Amino acid sequence: MQRAPIADGGQVGYSEHPSLPLSFPHPVPYFDHNATAPLDPAARGAWLEAADRFWANPSSLYGGATAARDLLADCRERLADILGCSDPGRIVFTSGATAANNLLARHLSTSATPDAIALLSPLEHPAVDASIRAAFPGRVSELGVDANGVVTPESLARALDAHGGRLIAAVSVMAAGNESGVLQPWPELASLCRSRTIPFHTDAAQWLGKLPATGLAACDWVTGSGHKFGGPRGVGFLLVPANTRFRGDVGGPQEHGQHAGTEDLPGIAGMVAALEARDRSLADIAIRGAGMRDAAIELLRERLPAGIIVSGNAERLWNTLAILIPGADSRKLVATLDRAGIEASTGSACSSGAASAARVVAAIAPSLGLAPGTPAGMVRFSAGPDTTGADWQAAMHALAEAVIANAGPARPPRVDLR
Ligand code: PLP
Repeated sequence: MQRAPIADGGQVGYSEHPSLPLSFPHPVPYFDHNATAPLDPAARGAWLEAADRFWANPSSLYGGATAARDLLADCRERLADILGCSDPGRIVFTSGATAANNLLARHLSTSATPDAIALLSPLEHPAVDASIRAAFPGRVSELGVDANGVVTPESLARALDAHGGRLIAAVSVMAAGNESGVLQPWPELASLCRSRTIPFHTDAAQWLGKLPATGLAACDWVTGSGHKFGGPRGVGFLLVPANTRFRGDVGGPQEHGQHAGTEDLPGIAGMVAALEARDRSLADIAIRGAGMRDAAIELLRERLPAGIIVSGNAERLWNTLAILIPGADSRKLVATLDRAGIEASTGSACSSGAASAARVVAAIAPSLGLAPGTPAGMVRFSAGPDTTGADWQAAMHALAEAVIANAGPARPPRVDLR
């Protein structure tokens, strides 16, 4: 099979990839599920059915539109169920997690007093970090993290005490990290915020579909994205607090007046079907996945002792392994892995991968034993429910060989720990 080359900054067109494989089943080990997951067959079925049969505008008034409206309400209830939320009206469907985070940022800034501040973890995805910083210019404070990049309840309590005199519009800490997969203690953080009546937001784009979602509704605000767990791309949601006058944007009465624009019903149906499908086998997937990842770590220790696992001493997503390699160039390693038939990533695909990875690594650099300024490359492997132990083993062997193949005196640093 002819494989698609990695685009090296230049434009690549669809016609240049006539032999790209279907998303599922995928012919090579795919380790970039945190960037996007292949479409789940259940999502595909639900998408097609909604597109074929429920294509009317849910806001219109005739019979076909009523059916579309009913399906929309059904999707909202099913998603609320998965989140452990008794009020489906809290769900606002959006066109993805970035859109949801931007809506939230705008709402927070327009509803808070002009001097209110926002508290963020330093590991937030740019979808949160940049949108909150744009909405609160000069009024964002970063929370401290421990050696593994975890925002502990103690660290949050200290920050809340330190800002005691000022109004805090919201605290935002992602549920699971997109780079290292580190799990944040969001139930405790949410509860601490609740005890001080401070709104708490968690971006759960990487948590959903990988770990149980029940309980997320205890957070005031939750962000989710369909394509991270096998749903279609360009659809997501924001869970908003009950009884809040949330007005994300203007221009239409959709989503109970909370988000304007005709809903993407096939996308929503596909997203909910994908999450339900994942949810059914979640416990099994997580246990098997963690076992395979841990076996891969053992192999890595043998084959690449210099590799450092990012957030290695904290609880992490079962599917994610981010490895820091001192002196290596991430992009070269990923390109070499690709030639060896392994699809992995330098870090977040949604932003400049290297820059996003650098932020994460810089936040925990002191604990990694690397002096500031040490060049290091980061490769992120993020598996899916169909990844096998053999895939993981092949990936670790290929990484060790890629490091040897790319070793040389003239290596430009990609992740600079300043
Ligand atoms: N938030 C997190 C934690 C992510 O990992 C991503 C994508 O990588 C996003 C938000 C953006 O999601 P979307 O592609 O739905 O806009």
